[in-house]
Amino acid sequence: MVIHDFTPTNDRLAAINLTETNRCGTCEAIDTTQHGLTQCGESKLIWNWTRARIAAITRTNPFYVPETWTLRPDFLIWPSQRHKAIMWMLAHLVDYHMQGQRRISLLGYIDFMRRSRWKADSRPTRCTAVGNYRSILDPPSSWTTYTPQARHTLGRPPWKS
Ligand SMILES: [Zn+2]
Repeated sequence: MVIHDFTPTNDRLAAINLTETNRCGTCEAIDTTQHGLTQCGESKLIWNWTRARIAAITRTNPFYVPETWTLRPDFLIWPSQRHKAIMWMLAHLVDYHMQGQRRISLLGYIDFMRRSRWKADSRPTRCTAVGNYRSILDPPSSWTTYTPQARHTLGRPPWKS
């Protein structure tokens, strides 16, 4: 599965002369699909949050979860329940970015994932397909007092400290 062309990044629009710049309107970096998904502003926070959870599922360092998985999830992870749980998270990350024009935020994303998970878990077949791996989305008890000011701690999995 390859995800592409879901958003008119300035890099693309510049190529067909619809915009005069191929720079990101937020940070001036070259505006690519990857940039919008995992590198810029809130999308970077969202990616780091997701990446920390994928790393917890695969028992690796988040550093080893490549951001290219969001565009080209060409990995194979055993067992298949674990593989499907990671695919589910990546698909929802992309889904969240594709939803309309509203402003993205880490808190909005966490809420989006909670609601999606609740819907998925109430379907028995989906639950079997991914086992209980999605429980990694459960916030650790230390997060019950989570505030936006504490978001700088989201980069590392708190349950490992
Ligand atoms: Zn940017």
